[in-house]
Amino acid sequence: MRPADACVVLVVGGSSSHASEVQTMLSQIRSYGVSVELCAHSTEALARLSSGGVAAVLAFDDYVGASVQRGILEQDILAPLVVIQELSSDDPVAERLRQREAGAAECLAFTELSPAVLRVALLGSIETHRGITQMQGADVSSVLDPDTGLFTTLAMRRRLAAAIDRSEAESDYRYATLYIDTAAIHPSDLLSATDVAALRTRVGLRLAHIANDFVAAPVGETGYVVLFRGFPEGEDLGAADSVRRELQRPYDHDDDQLYLDLGFGLARGRGRDANAQAAIDRARCEVVVPRVPRLHTHSASERRPPATDVVASELAQALQREEFSVTYQPIVDIQSQRPYGFEALIRWRHPDGEERPAADFINAANDSELIVPIGYWCVEAAMRQMADWHSEFEHLPDLCISMNLSAPQVLDPLFVERVRSMLMTTGLKASAVRFEIEAGTIADHNKEARALVEGLSAAGSKVWVEDYGLSDCTVDDLRGFPLDGFKIDRRFVSRIDGTEMTSGRIRHIMTAASALGLRTLGEGIENQLQANVLRWLGCQLGQGYLYERPLSVAEVYAYLAEA
Ligand code: C2E
Ligand code: MG
Repeated sequence: MRPADACVVLVVGGSSSHASEVQTMLSQIRSYGVSVELCAHSTEALARLSSGGVAAVLAFDDYVGASVQRGILEQDILAPLVVIQELSSDDPVAERLRQREAGAAECLAFTELSPAVLRVALLGSIETHRGITQMQGADVSSVLDPDTGLFTTLAMRRRLAAAIDRSEAESDYRYATLYIDTAAIHPSDLLSATDVAALRTRVGLRLAHIANDFVAAPVGETGYVVLFRGFPEGEDLGAADSVRRELQRPYDHDDDQLYLDLGFGLARGRGRDANAQAAIDRARCEVVVPRVPRLHTHSASERRPPATDVVASELAQALQREEFSVTYQPIVDIQSQRPYGFEALIRWRHPDGEERPAADFINAANDSELIVPIGYWCVEAAMRQMADWHSEFEHLPDLCISMNLSAPQVLDPLFVERVRSMLMTTGLKASAVRFEIEAGTIADHNKEARALVEGLSAAGSKVWVEDYGLSDCTVDDLRGFPLDGFKIDRRFVSRIDGTEMTSGRIRHIMTAASALGLRTLGEGIENQLQANVLRWLGCQLGQGYLYERPLSVAEVYAYLAEA
């Protein structure tokens, strides 16, 4: 260890025997080059801190320790504080939380102190300190990227390395890295090279603006990396999703609003990465590169902007103004007509007062990829609603809710984890959840679709394939997927007129389903003949105007009350 790497840990307060016990333990953390200084008075300790070079403060929870803690907060001193105290046996977790709220980086019970525990508690601070002092001039500003105010790549790597070490030593410490790829923003008719550079910087500036509970840095020419540390299980996903939503809001550019195609990849840690670079690479590998790099623009000055772009920017507004709602179309057992569940279908209460069916705007939402945030909203609303119905109608415990996923949602690497956390927050059981994915999407994005279906299945939910027979998708494309069933498209069902000719395609789909061991659901059933033919062909479930149209929440209550 070079002397320049040595750093000071200041031990404040405590009885002289306790302080020297801690000093002995710290002297055993040799590999980190820690040197220890004891301070018995708060003024002395604060003066020492102001003179710099202290990597961390270990403060006993006594009068001296408490006044140093106050001083650190008041004077905005950067050194992290580890508090050592007697933890009451009643609620030690609450006490640790209270200390964290009061600005402590860690709170340790005196009885649990050992060289290993101290090493873990101090590791992050020591690495950070070393990162700062190794920079030229040991100036904190040199760890910041001058363009964006984010950390520099090197400063970020040090934090990431410390998080990796800590996750190895501490079983419940988690970290996650989010890689943001701006490579799809490139010069075009619309954007000069200068515009492109400025837009990339603006992505970084927006990131810096929201970086309250994470650290972020630019990496390479076109990437940013975000590090989430010490989040409770699942919360890093919510945080990653907020980052994504924020960065995907449109960017003003002259008179235009630009929707940038950014790639996002999340890699969750815990002892899996050999070093910081490995963690960054893993996140980068998770990035789903937009298939066609594209820039959506809405020009306020144009009289007639292209139709989808108008709708896309209207949709972004609709999401902000909460103009969406969900209707629920009953799915029934085709034999008994008993309710089996519902398909959630999104609706848009347009500012013109009309309610628009999904068919009117879902393509624009898919093209602009706004379906990702809109879909999250819809999935969460439907799950919450279904959880309500479960508690209201206890005699129907197996009712399920089916939700549609389009290609951008299937390509979203955060989707499965987000669903897991929504299951937790809504309280809905995973077995009540179905997702519908078009066969064509599975064929086009086989690898991603497999990961998604496997992830959802591991979470306890089920996936149905829609539109089989309307794309190139074959049984082989679906083999090995843990699927639950096939939906027979209403375009096939509507052709049923009792002749062998019209049911031939359906028979073919039924054969494919049985080759894969799947159940079938006929959709768009409008008359009894269609229902009878489907039942005769072995289809178990049905949906369509013959039974019910998509219903409002209030109508579902009435429908279930009679079931
Ligand atoms: P889909 O999954 O095939 O949904 C069924 C569509 O058929 C719905 O139209 C529904 O209102 C309509 N429908 C139901 N029964 C009958 C019937 O008996 N006859 C006829 N002619 N039509 C019937 P909607 O609500 O306009 O949805 C259109 C498509 O939009 C859906 O097709 C689905 O692919 C997509 N979609 C709807 N909600 C969402 C959503 O939340 N997320 C995503 N990603 N896509 C959605
Ligand atoms: Mg559907």
